[in-house]
Amino acid sequence: MFETLKAQPADKILALMQLYRDDPRETKVDLGVGVYKDATGLTPVMRAVKAAEHKLWETQDSKVYTGLAGDPAFADAMFTMLLGDAVPRNTTAAAATPGGTGACRQAFEMIQMARPDARVFVSDPTWPNHLSILKYLNIEVVPYRYFDEETRGVDFDGMIADLKTAKKGDVVLLHGCCHNPTGANLNAAEWDAVIEVLLQTGATPMIDIAYQGFGDGLEADAAATRKVAAAVPECLIAASCSKNFGIYRERTGLLMVVAADTSALTLNQGTLAFLNRQNYSFPPDHGARLVTMILNDDALRADWMAELEEVRNTMLGLRTALASELQKLSGSDRFGFLAQHRGMFSRLGTTPDKVEALRDKHGIYMVGDSRMNIAGLNAESVPILARAIIDVGI
Ligand code: PMP
Repeated sequence: MFETLKAQPADKILALMQLYRDDPRETKVDLGVGVYKDATGLTPVMRAVKAAEHKLWETQDSKVYTGLAGDPAFADAMFTMLLGDAVPRNTTAAAATPGGTGACRQAFEMIQMARPDARVFVSDPTWPNHLSILKYLNIEVVPYRYFDEETRGVDFDGMIADLKTAKKGDVVLLHGCCHNPTGANLNAAEWDAVIEVLLQTGATPMIDIAYQGFGDGLEADAAATRKVAAAVPECLIAASCSKNFGIYRERTGLLMVVAADTSALTLNQGTLAFLNRQNYSFPPDHGARLVTMILNDDALRADWMAELEEVRNTMLGLRTALASELQKLSGSDRFGFLAQHRGMFSRLGTTPDKVEALRDKHGIYMVGDSRMNIAGLNAESVPILARAIIDVGI
């Protein structure tokens, strides 16, 4: 029966990882897959996560099912971390999901259930999995201008002009912080203008926030999400704990649906539980439990926040080092955007043949659209990358 299947496109990043592994050069640099790596190339288990796991092993006396929406304590802890007091807790439905990907998937399904002909506006470019899931679900995608190839910042005028074409019943997908794949982000005044357009058009925002704490700090990175949630009548928020807790494989995420008042809560909460039931029943619990333990314990939380700050500052340090090395080599400020970008990624803004030249000639592996994982660098590889960028004529 399965001979009718068509081959699916291979994941480009995973294929790149294989090429990297097969490259015998000692100076090769992996800037491909989006995981945090320390100076030795390791993606460590965070200290607070280890401590929470230890405590859990000692104290957990049952692994019986939780609830269809996961443990409410996880939703409460995440709600507080993400939204603070921006909106009341009793207007917000929430369900644990397998990672941020699961949260996005459930959000898209909920949109489709509510409005079968909804269009989803996505930044050009966006995380490729947004596009692939939307396509799989047959949801119409409308790209909005986002990245300015010239400045490597946000094409703000283009973005606003495109968002103005959205209407009630459409969804505008926004990255809460640390835009993937570009690293270019809106400033506070620009977020205000986006909110203005959302209110004018009546389109519903969906915020994907997968890197809280990786940009300007845990609170600062949540500021835009809070502002949007407080301003609009309804919004969806898909959050991932993969990066900021370093628990990638535990598949830990949360989908929140903020409503204007408490009357929509029961319907929204019931829908989230229903969607979980249809797709995988109870969501994974281990990572969610660790996150809850960390966020609700003063000592664990303080240690986690300290380590997250180390991670964030390491990436910022690498950004400044790379920008200044390139400033020296090129004698120009045209790479200053690297220090302005935030999060794990920066889009270099070059052509696929130059990305290929970086790989073939210099053993530097980045995604074909010139997205670099900044955390793939260290003190030794920064000058190697800078020289290679100049050498291939970027
Ligand atoms: N959204 C964005 C923008 C991402 O970059 C990622 C991670 N690559 C995710 C969501 C989801 O990550 P995960 O499913 O691993 O939690």
